Amino acid sequence: MHDIDRTGILFLKTPVSNSVPLVLDSPHSGTTYPDDFDHVSDFTVLRRAEDTYVHELYDCAPRYGAVLMGAHFPRSYIDVNRSLEEIDLSMIDGNWEGPVVSSEKADAGIGLIWRVNQNNENLYDRKLSIEEVRHRILTYWQAYHETLKNSLEETHTRFGKYVHINCHSMPEISNESSKEGPGVRRAEFVLGDRHGTTCDPDLVIERPPKEG
Ligand SMILES: [Zn+2]
Repeated sequence: MHDIDRTGILFLKTPVSNSVPLVLDSPHSGTTYPDDFDHVSDFTVLRRAEDTYVHELYDCAPRYGAVLMGAHFPRSYIDVNRSLEEIDLSMIDGNWEGPVVSSEKADAGIGLIWRVNQNNENLYDRKLSIEEVRHRILTYWQAYHETLKNSLEETHTRFGKYVHINCHSMPEISNESSKEGPGVRRAEFVLGDRHGTTCDPDLVIERPPKEG
């Protein structure tokens, strides 16, 4: 594995020596807004979608033998934490040929390509062309997923296993739409496993030390 830095797209930092089978990625901390975004959102509101600085929190990971990668582009341009099928056809000018699934996120305007900003205001005053959507998928989404997949596979080849941590941030205090109700101060670090679906419970549940 070697370091990669593709301007505006992604970076991959590799350890001097791979001493742990750990790969971290920060998909939402990118702050390089592509010139062809052509949105009409207030920029300050648009930026609230970022997990700003998250990759910096984990910047030391390669020193401890882990791989760290991240997106340079923002999730509001194209969201690598969505499947290619979570696409909102109402935003596209023309017939989209790819598969589409019904998606809660896409319905809420935050699917593969976001329709709204954090104030629920439209990001565009136009429809996106098919070429534009394809360009975002090929140049950004696929590049990100290929790089991530390669680093996971290379780590697996070396160790026979890997742990992958997908790194995010969320507001410090809960709001109206939060499960716990508004105004609750949250934990500093949360090990999420998407309701028990993304990893073995042994990895995230802290167990009391065995007696004897
Ligand atoms: Zn995120």
